[in-house]
Amino acid sequence: MKILVINAGSSSLKYQLIDTADNKVIAKGLCERIGIENSKLTYKPTGKEGFELVQDMKDHTDAIQLVLNALVDPVHGVIADMKEIDAVGHRVVHGGEKFAESVLLTDEVIETIESLNDLAPLHNPANLMGIRACKAIMPNTPMVGVFDTAFHQTMPPEAFIYALPYEAYTEHMVRRYGFHGTSHKYVSMRALAMLGKPAEGTKIITCHLGNGSSVAAIKDGKCIDTSMGLTPLEGLPMGTRSGDIDPAIVGYLVRRLGLNMKEMDTYMNKKSGMLGISGVSSDFRDLSAAANEGNERAELALKVFAYRVKKYIGAYAAALDGVDAIVFTAGVGENDRGMRERILTGLDYLGVDVDFEYNRNAPRGEEITISKPESKVKVFVIPTDEELMIAMDAERLAKQA
Ligand code: ADP
Repeated sequence: MKILVINAGSSSLKYQLIDTADNKVIAKGLCERIGIENSKLTYKPTGKEGFELVQDMKDHTDAIQLVLNALVDPVHGVIADMKEIDAVGHRVVHGGEKFAESVLLTDEVIETIESLNDLAPLHNPANLMGIRACKAIMPNTPMVGVFDTAFHQTMPPEAFIYALPYEAYTEHMVRRYGFHGTSHKYVSMRALAMLGKPAEGTKIITCHLGNGSSVAAIKDGKCIDTSMGLTPLEGLPMGTRSGDIDPAIVGYLVRRLGLNMKEMDTYMNKKSGMLGISGVSSDFRDLSAAANEGNERAELALKVFAYRVKKYIGAYAAALDGVDAIVFTAGVGENDRGMRERILTGLDYLGVDVDFEYNRNAPRGEEITISKPESKVKVFVIPTDEELMIAMDAERLAKQA
């Protein structure tokens, strides 16, 4: 099947057309500055010449229309007719407790997603714009929603309940939801394949380390805990997010700095993390370069990050009653060999025996094992592919439509 995968933001829209016969990308690209002047479409077909087009897109419907025009373009196109698209898979950030799996996007489902806007006020409304635009232009094509939170819905209450008055949960939806679920699900499935073991009885810790980062504990193929919470702010320190802090710091700094809540939100989401500690950058490549040149705060930021990932690995090994495999994925996890070494150093007591020599020169962009053959716990680097996971779910559900 040919599946169009859409990841719609408020002013951008990423797309990939994937052929599930061989899981290959047929074309991909991006619309930027939607609703702002000088909008731009980038279009890259596989094995053909692509193009960029600067043309105003007043809304997501204009953007989708331009994407479809590019896909069927007589010169640059990859399909003859829009009807060749068998289904559209949409990334949706927050499914709350309503969606534990991907779903066909009926009008009723769309209304339910809308009812969750409060939980992800920046993301869900943008995702819905993408869904509605596609529905308007392709009314007869099955649409599937794939949620960042869905994979984590198997967490038991002891993992998702915060120790606040219970009404915060029952009346205000306050609980741990977790994000990056599509990525954690994909790499854990690949890890099972690499282990050659069934999901049943297998314990995996997946570390999605990118600009945003989270760790998940997976037992029997199901998530039992993850580091992000009600929002993606909890857990690991990230490019610009603080991750776990003493919650009392919020009130303390609001008073001391005279910030309002919106400003405090920006402080923790946009000014903290690696950027906040280092004062250099949120980008791990910049931090490594600065640290190598002797910048102590950049070095400190990297140390804090590695230490906190390591603590989560220890915590999740305890939560899982042991661990069979640790997986690294996303921009930092897949590429930053030095960071992997920092995180994995000293985990021998857990049965983790890493081939650091190999790791230092390990290839990028492919699935590799960086633990020694005799290591009790396997350590894998697995490139994530959220788009492929979305396409696979969309195919499965479209067949049932
Ligand atoms: P996002 O959360 O935005 O999807 P990514 O998963 O793409 O983020 O990760 C982005 C991060 O990956 C950046 O901090 C970047 O520095 C880091 N990264 C990418 N390539 C490398 C590399 N070769 N070495 C170290 N870090 C890298």
